[in-house]
Amino acid sequence: MLENKNPSKTSISSLGEFALIDHLTKAFNLTQKSSVLGIGDDAAILDLSQGKTVVSTDLLIEGVHFDLSYMPLKHLGYKAVMVNLSDIYAMNAQPTQITISLAVSNRFTLEALDELYAGILLGCKNHKVDLVGGDTSSSTSGLTLSVTAIGNVKEEKISRRSGAKENDLLVVSGDLGGAYSGLQILEREKAVFKVNPNNQPDLSNYAYSIERQLKPEARKDVIELLKELDVTPSSMIDISDGLSSEILHLSKASQVGFHLFEEKLPIDHEVIKICEEFKLNTTTAVLNGGEDYELLFTVAQKEFDKIKNHPLLSIIGHACDLGGGCQLINGLGQQIELTAQGWQSFDEA
Ligand SMILES: [Mg+2]
Repeated sequence: MLENKNPSKTSISSLGEFALIDHLTKAFNLTQKSSVLGIGDDAAILDLSQGKTVVSTDLLIEGVHFDLSYMPLKHLGYKAVMVNLSDIYAMNAQPTQITISLAVSNRFTLEALDELYAGILLGCKNHKVDLVGGDTSSSTSGLTLSVTAIGNVKEEKISRRSGAKENDLLVVSGDLGGAYSGLQILEREKAVFKVNPNNQPDLSNYAYSIERQLKPEARKDVIELLKELDVTPSSMIDISDGLSSEILHLSKASQVGFHLFEEKLPIDHEVIKICEEFKLNTTTAVLNGGEDYELLFTVAQKEFDKIKNHPLLSIIGHACDLGGGCQLINGLGQQIELTAQGWQSFDEA
């Protein structure tokens, strides 16, 4: 589909590197006060004199982090931006600028890159972030994207991974397991398509989960909500690898243990249905799944009234002493130790 067999498509080698960058970035405008100069000089100029600056970088490699057989390029551009902004929000900061570097093989046409940049532009617009630089290069195979995000936060509002205290409440935004169950559906359809390319699957029953996989949204709204509620999380992390491994990161950095209550886990009914269909344990999907890009954080007990019953937030457990480790507590009150791969099942324990 992406091969340049259509003569009406433009090969990227027909443009020079600078013409290509000009073409791809012409729709981007600067909106942030801290963006003094964007693309066009040897380097961008930023005025970072207010607050603290946070910086995060991610590398996305075709075949490792994404599969273009079911990931439309516009979605990939959007997701590449979201994945990075999510790390900035996880510091309780506001993202302000990004840079994007791209290595691309000649099987991609200019029209394909336009799609990718349309997704990047939409991500920047939705989150009021400026694209201020980057690089493009040819690659011998496939597509590689590197995104760097820059953000701003007042020093006293920063939420590190290391700030959780014993008895703090453990809170998560949104719901979990959707991106993972969406991936199961997409992988299954890819396998079906290989056998029968004419098959037109009806995926409408799985729309929510597929969207969670293909078009995740970084939780700007949650950071704004916390500000409105005047709550500064004592620690925070975004969920890229799965709830279990993120809890272990908070535990290690903060030197506390956690109790996590299975029945408190926020899970969409569609995710439960997909797990039944694939004979997967829903809790395992939530603990291991990853890519939900929700925010996981701790708050002091005194904040309980501010966050209880909020539709965006679920209190799923609390911090305890490090000696107790990180335990999932099921409906029967049994404790199961969390591991980076999810949890130790009874058979393996
Ligand atoms: Mg992260």
